[in-house]
Amino acid sequence: MELEYSIIRSAGRRKLTITVERDRRIVVHAPEGVPEEKIREAVDSKRQWLFEKMRHPQKYEDAPQPPGKELVNGEAVMYLGRSYRIAITATASGDIEFARQFLVPPGIAAGGTKAFSDWLLVRAEQKILPRVEHYARQLGVNYRDAEVSEGRFRWGSCTPGNGLRFNWRLIKAPMSVIDYVIVHELAHLIEPNHTPRFWNIVRAQHPATENAKRWLCDHGELLEQRL
Ligand SMILES: [Zn+2]
Repeated sequence: MELEYSIIRSAGRRKLTITVERDRRIVVHAPEGVPEEKIREAVDSKRQWLFEKMRHPQKYEDAPQPPGKELVNGEAVMYLGRSYRIAITATASGDIEFARQFLVPPGIAAGGTKAFSDWLLVRAEQKILPRVEHYARQLGVNYRDAEVSEGRFRWGSCTPGNGLRFNWRLIKAPMSVIDYVIVHELAHLIEPNHTPRFWNIVRAQHPATENAKRWLCDHGELLEQRL
């Protein structure tokens, strides 16, 4: 995935340095006059390292608690690009059900948000994993395994051993955005960096790439939420 970062330029600086702040923001300190393109390349080349840094919560104990939804009547939760209400109510199955709203039995709701996010994770697996297979065939690539998992701060990733990881929170996004993230990560198996060749591969497979990128950018805060 693309990394977000801010750039601080200063005339006296001679080297480009990249740091991850305590609140996980990436800041690039750059000399005056270094082109944006060069900075993007530098950040891209450090992708793995930056993700590692952002992934270790113990180093950022001062980071604010993630804002989140409450598991209460009337709360709205995004699902496949639309907002649906939670209704705390008994269900036929005794489990959480979806019928134009999320029906959550009181016993489950009392346990907090975890049971609901676990349920969404399973929904995400059911939507995402078959499509990973589909797009892998389309692109003619092999991946070792694909997994939908808990994790914050990124939508998807490609591990060094060709394993693919997708954030369960992707289930909040429209299907076309989910497809984009899948295609993006699979395309990294062909081209590891965000080169023009990489984007050609992605766009050929997913023409609505720009819209999907914009959606992810606009909704980045969803990644920070527990629910
Ligand atoms: Zn990427």
